[in-house]
Amino acid sequence: MVSFVDRARMMGPPKTTRYPNLAVKFLIILLARATSAHTSADIERMPTIPNEQFDVLVIGGGITGCGVARDAAMRGLKVLLVERDDFASGTSGRSSRLVHGGIRYLEHGQLHLVRESIRERETLLRIAPHLVQPLAFTWPIYKGARVGRWKLAAGLFLYELLALGKSRRHSTLSREKTLEREPSLSTTGLIGGALYYDARTDDALLTIATALAAEQSGAVLASHTRVTGIIRDAGKAVGAMVTAQYSGDTQEVRARLVVDATGVWQNELGVSDRARPRGSKGVHIAVPRERVGNRDAITMISAVDGRVMFCLPAHRQTIIGTTDTWTDESPETVHALASDVDYLLRSANEYFPRARLTFDDVVSAWAGIRPLASGTSANPSAASREHSIVADESGIIHVTGGKLTTYRSMAAEIVDRAQEMLGQKVRRAPTDAVELPGADRGDEIARLQSEDPRLAERLAPEMPYTAADLVYGVKREKAQTLSDLLIRRTHLAFETRDHGLSIGARAADIVAPLLGWDDQTKSARVREYGKDIGRMFAITAA
Ligand SMILES: Cc1cc2nc3c(=O)[nH]c(=O)nc-3n(C[C@H](O)[C@H](O)[C@H](O)COP(=O)(O)OP(=O)(O)OC[C@H]3O[C@@H](n4cnc5c(N)ncnc54)[C@H](O)[C@@H]3O)c2cc1C
Repeated sequence: MVSFVDRARMMGPPKTTRYPNLAVKFLIILLARATSAHTSADIERMPTIPNEQFDVLVIGGGITGCGVARDAAMRGLKVLLVERDDFASGTSGRSSRLVHGGIRYLEHGQLHLVRESIRERETLLRIAPHLVQPLAFTWPIYKGARVGRWKLAAGLFLYELLALGKSRRHSTLSREKTLEREPSLSTTGLIGGALYYDARTDDALLTIATALAAEQSGAVLASHTRVTGIIRDAGKAVGAMVTAQYSGDTQEVRARLVVDATGVWQNELGVSDRARPRGSKGVHIAVPRERVGNRDAITMISAVDGRVMFCLPAHRQTIIGTTDTWTDESPETVHALASDVDYLLRSANEYFPRARLTFDDVVSAWAGIRPLASGTSANPSAASREHSIVADESGIIHVTGGKLTTYRSMAAEIVDRAQEMLGQKVRRAPTDAVELPGADRGDEIARLQSEDPRLAERLAPEMPYTAADLVYGVKREKAQTLSDLLIRRTHLAFETRDHGLSIGARAADIVAPLLGWDDQTKSARVREYGKDIGRMFAITAA
């Protein structure tokens, strides 16, 4: 496989005249070229998995795997969750961060999915109010739009009907009211709009909270530990070989049942041909919100190709996304292409012409791959987001598809299946009633800062994150690397133009005593961070 760094090298220098930001990205890649070394500190920190037989081994610490681990542990099963990198380091940390019914799925007649998603949205608002909050969407309507006034009104009526009265009521907006809500919108051809509600989340923290909830219910978590092979006995899966990321140490783990929740990695794990997902690539960009001027979320229909997409408020930034294209790219190196960024900028500029967004405005761009169970459609946007649960001939349960929003109900179905296969009585756990951990995060960070005022220092100017966020990330949220801290426990990497590279060494100094890093390890971790952000935030021409 050609790595991204190799590909960037083969391409030669970026076209800096058209995409000045690419020069910065390329520099990051060059800085990141050195490979990381294993150090004694890493070896000491290798997670030790108890040498016992588990009921369920869950492979993959995205939202699906963490949801399964939580549900199974709450039913009293002995669970081991193994994640090759960090929790949410895959697709689950690269979503649009919406917990939503998915109004656009109504166009494709996916009523069941929308109904389930709305129900789950309400559940998550209830069990994770610190991570999932209501979000107002304005949907402006322009003359001649593919989704006109009546079609939108009918769609929103149905959306509310499917919510069985649990949703906040939508309202139709006159042209004036639409502009009152969102004064930066283009006025040309604007005939009105609608206001409706869904919810937003922090995808990585939601995933991590779900992992921590699993641990609180007795599950064993092993991040930065990769499954390298399945152990079979008379054709049946009875465990796996796992290798720790830094020490390289390999261990055999035994389980009565294996759940493969590796999402788009399923194709790489190579355990079965029966449940192969098809990958659909989605790119987002972040630009300064003051440049766009949106107040809430905006639902747009791209003038380029008629697809539904969003401008989403994210503190001082606006996230624009997403694209939706079939891909065979590796999930480990997937990143935005200049053509993806161009498409998103052009689509947003139609709605916010005064912004005149260009490549220079792009603070960060990143890509994720949707693991779609039903990949036969020519148009990935029309492909169903429903999930599939398939047990193969060796007894491994493979999960494909689904959404961040529906992870809890999907997990319940998977664990039902697991209990059946284990010959147990299926007994559902109250996963919809028990709150996810982390509600005290703000208080705990304030406490750390009051105990040691140095921890109140900001990591970067104009960013809300402080040294205490990093300490909390290590002590309470299982962060082990700078990427865990700067990409997922905070979103500093998404929100700064150098993706946090300039504060890497300082961040390493802050967490080194907690993680047992010596000077050699610190340097290795900073180089590794450069490599990670080089892979994730690069924008290449092809
Ligand atoms: C651009 C985009 C936007 C989206 N927006 C939304 C949205 O707003 N709302 C919504 O509800 N859904 C959204 N989705 C869908 C949602 O993000 C995915 O359905 C969900 O995150 C998939 O989670 P997962 O756990 O199945 O996969 P992943 O998160 O990819 O998890 C799989 C994990 O398996 C691990 N793994 C792989 N191989 C191994 C191995 N050998 N050993 C151990 N671990 C391994 C990987 O490291 C990875 O962490 C979006 C998806 C994309 C791509």
